[in-house]
Amino acid sequence: MPKMVCAKDGYELYPEKNGVYEIVFADFGPYQIYRADLWRCSGCGAEILAGFAPQAIFEIEHDGFKECLEKVKLERHYPNYGRAGEYKPK
Ligand SMILES: [Zn+2]
Repeated sequence: MPKMVCAKDGYELYPEKNGVYEIVFADFGPYQIYRADLWRCSGCGAEILAGFAPQAIFEIEHDGFKECLEKVKLERHYPNYGRAGEYKPK
């Protein structure tokens, strides 16, 4: 397990849940789904995703992407809207 410390308050982060889903967005909407782990700061409660699988578990070119996305939305999932949030739906 990697060690992570919150730069804001100096508390250590701990793994809150292994195997959550990340939904990656582009300008046209969601296009990739990754598995990752959710970490939480024991001080301020900040949450981050880390420990990503090297490859997406599903991509928009794959048949059944829409169905997979609907299933993932029933589980614990988090969006990735890009570095500047540029892909966040308006
Ligand atoms: Zn913190």
